[in-house]
Amino acid sequence: MGQKSLLSLSGRRGKSYNERVIHLSIPNLNGNESRYLQECINSNYVSSVGPFVSRMEKLLAEKSGAAAAVTTASGTSALHLALLAVGVKPGDLVIIPSFSFIATANAIAHCAATPWLFDIENRAWTLDAELLRQELHSKTLVQNGKLHLKATGQRIAAVMPVHVLGNPADLDAVVMVASQYDLPVVVDGAAALGATYHSKLIAYPGLLTTFSFNGNKTITCGGGGAVVGDNLPQLDLIRHISAQARVGTSYHHDQVGYNYRLTNIHAAVGCAQLERLEAFVTRKREVDIFYRELSKNLSGLASFARPPWGESSCWFSGIVLDPHSALGVNELVPQLAAQGIESKPFWKPIHLQPPYATAPRTLMSNSESVWTRILTLPCSTNITNLELDQVAKVMIAVFSRKAA
Ligand SMILES: *Cc1c(COP(=O)(O)O)cnc(C)c1O
Repeated sequence: MGQKSLLSLSGRRGKSYNERVIHLSIPNLNGNESRYLQECINSNYVSSVGPFVSRMEKLLAEKSGAAAAVTTASGTSALHLALLAVGVKPGDLVIIPSFSFIATANAIAHCAATPWLFDIENRAWTLDAELLRQELHSKTLVQNGKLHLKATGQRIAAVMPVHVLGNPADLDAVVMVASQYDLPVVVDGAAALGATYHSKLIAYPGLLTTFSFNGNKTITCGGGGAVVGDNLPQLDLIRHISAQARVGTSYHHDQVGYNYRLTNIHAAVGCAQLERLEAFVTRKREVDIFYRELSKNLSGLASFARPPWGESSCWFSGIVLDPHSALGVNELVPQLAAQGIESKPFWKPIHLQPPYATAPRTLMSNSESVWTRILTLPCSTNITNLELDQVAKVMIAVFSRKAA
């Protein structure tokens, strides 16, 4: 990236952030955000109906390669609605990778269903399609035309792969297995807007894909989410139940609905952010390459997995410690913080979380090996090259001290 585009992405930061700390991942709000927010105030369109909501849905469909989009209050509510739309019912099981943010499982619990937790493959850290094939073959049976887990008798209602860290899951392989069992597939693409799969935009034909616009995602509305897809009746249903299942303009409601809509104020920020999606993802990928080079030059470090079947949106990047590393993630975080660099461990897998202690699961060798070794490093879209050099300098010092 040339100096000019670098400058346009960096620049002024919010005053509440400590300027001397290099933050992990902070919003980049230097585009049309404040102008669009002012338009909301001036026009009095502050609630869930308004021009920015419609504009954001159009932009999202365009930039994900879907026919249409429905915006929601959060990524979690988007997941909840998508699961309901494919027919997940109380008592059902939904297959997900254990290596995900807890919201993936919580959306299933909000349907009064249970996750069936799977290990990840090691190329992109996403749902392992081969393991899916083996488990469905050996652990399930079809009864009255429905697929059940033999051990518990629960119906299996859907498969929900996750685009972990912006890495697309291998959906061709997942869909191939799922379709043999007539299982619907919903994709948790929370941070994957801007990623590609086999050179195509991230919305997969025939599937519902969800996004999150939480504060630490590449594109943020403060809070927000969306479901995109090409099945218009399914998306109409999602829109309907996201708005209290209201029919017409009077107070008639034909089913239990939710208040899951995005407001025009949030969408105003979202539109301004989406205008810069390509530049944001370009910068995220440059930061990823920077840390890959850094880890090559330090012994005992590996890089984040990135898929051979697509291009990651590189939501987060950082380093992976060697299994025999003398330094653990929990020792590194305070050492880097002392030098003004924010870093963080990454998701603790869902099978280790108390609410899901009894959920059925596969063996978890990859998930357990990976999560304790990941250290995410500063990767905001407005990080400067100078700041990246500073992170590298500190990392080199920390690791050579240990080696000495
Ligand atoms: C961020 C995230 C979510 C949840 O989105 P919210 O907008 O915070 O509700 C769900 N799944 C994954 C994989 C995420 O990264």
